[in-house]
Amino acid sequence: MRGWLDQHVPRGRPPEDGPEEIRFLRDWQRTLAEGGWAGISWPREYGGRGATLMEQVIYQEEMDRADAPRQIGWFGITMGGPVIIQIGTEAQKQRYIPKILNGEEIWCQGYSEPNAGSDLASLRTRAVLEGDHWVINGSKIWTSSAHQADLCFLLCRTEDNPPDKHMGISAIIVDMHQPGVRTRRLHQMNDERDFNETYFENALAPADCVVGEVNKGWQAAVAVLGFERGGSIGRALGVARVLDEVVGYCRTHSRGGRPLIQDPLVRGQLAAYHGRVHAARLGFYRNLTHWLREGRPGPEGSMMKLYCSELRKEMLGFAASLAGPEAMRWDSAFTEDYLTSFGGTIEAGTSEIQKNTLGERVLGLPKDIRN
Ligand SMILES: Cc1cc2nc3c(=O)[nH]c(=O)nc-3n(C[C@H](O)[C@H](O)[C@H](O)COP(=O)(O)OP(=O)(O)OC[C@H]3O[C@@H](n4cnc5c(N)ncnc54)[C@H](O)[C@@H]3O)c2cc1C
Repeated sequence: MRGWLDQHVPRGRPPEDGPEEIRFLRDWQRTLAEGGWAGISWPREYGGRGATLMEQVIYQEEMDRADAPRQIGWFGITMGGPVIIQIGTEAQKQRYIPKILNGEEIWCQGYSEPNAGSDLASLRTRAVLEGDHWVINGSKIWTSSAHQADLCFLLCRTEDNPPDKHMGISAIIVDMHQPGVRTRRLHQMNDERDFNETYFENALAPADCVVGEVNKGWQAAVAVLGFERGGSIGRALGVARVLDEVVGYCRTHSRGGRPLIQDPLVRGQLAAYHGRVHAARLGFYRNLTHWLREGRPGPEGSMMKLYCSELRKEMLGFAASLAGPEAMRWDSAFTEDYLTSFGGTIEAGTSEIQKNTLGERVLGLPKDIRN
């Protein structure tokens, strides 16, 4: 794999935004798929390599080491594809999997709604089966990349007033290129516009586009979130990378005529971060050991998500502060990354929700009060 990456990873910085970036990333995804390096954990019959968990970890470490561009359609690769392989129909596998692998179709994740985020089961977007189509009405929010996506993995209510709100939900694959679907990009505090409000007004999806069983979409939703939170090695590698960048900055920048790296307070802080970054990696390995022994990730995944996203935010806040008042400029080192890091503590379950999970499932504390 190292040999292949040496030959194929594009040199230079990728384009930052817009159609150029999409073209660049689609090309990279196609290159990965052609080389057999996309979806490596997927079974061979669906274009994967059937890689073991340990091989997947090594794969991610090597991708990080080679500074390879990210995979486009992140949701499809890391979550949509695996869940279709796990519980989709054979027809869905044949139809969707190859195009996720080669980047031809980009997916987005339609879960959150204005009143259903942490409390996802309160979602209200409705799908009604009329003849051989679902007719969908409602809206989603914070849909990453919806403006670029071809398909949406959409959670809808398909049964009103079920005995338990986790029932009566279905996961439906919806074509984003139709008159009934509209997206509106949201302007974030880091000045980017990756999120959307997504509106469904009599949008249509064929009856056979449900993933898993009708009214049992909660299982599909949870399976997806399991894949999402399982990606902890990426988080551990991510904080290590941030620390490298901060140390690099301190070596090349001075304050009061002295290189930052020689300032005892800065050195002390960097040393403390070094210990915590190392702990993140060891924590991941411990989690991995549990996973290998038990066959499934443990609740420690929540610990990694909480620990790494909070550490990342703290390190970037420290790094931004090294620039003093200059940090208020957009182009100041770390300012944009610092503002972006807040999202990491919210996406895929907020820090408070992770603490609830850890309290209940690891520490055995009484359950959170739920509606
Ligand atoms: C970078 C990023 C990408 C995202 N991408 C997507 C996407 O592609 N698709 C998608 O559907 N969604 C996406 N989201 C949305 C994300 O899933 C939600 O923001 C998240 O689940 C929190 O929901 P909420 O924003 O409605 O906040 P709320 O659930 O309203 O929470 C508000 C505050 O209350 C706290 N809180 C809520 N419940 C409890 C509780 N029981 N105990 C203690 N505290 C609690 C929360 O921690 C938070 O601080 C993304 C978000 C981010 C930041």
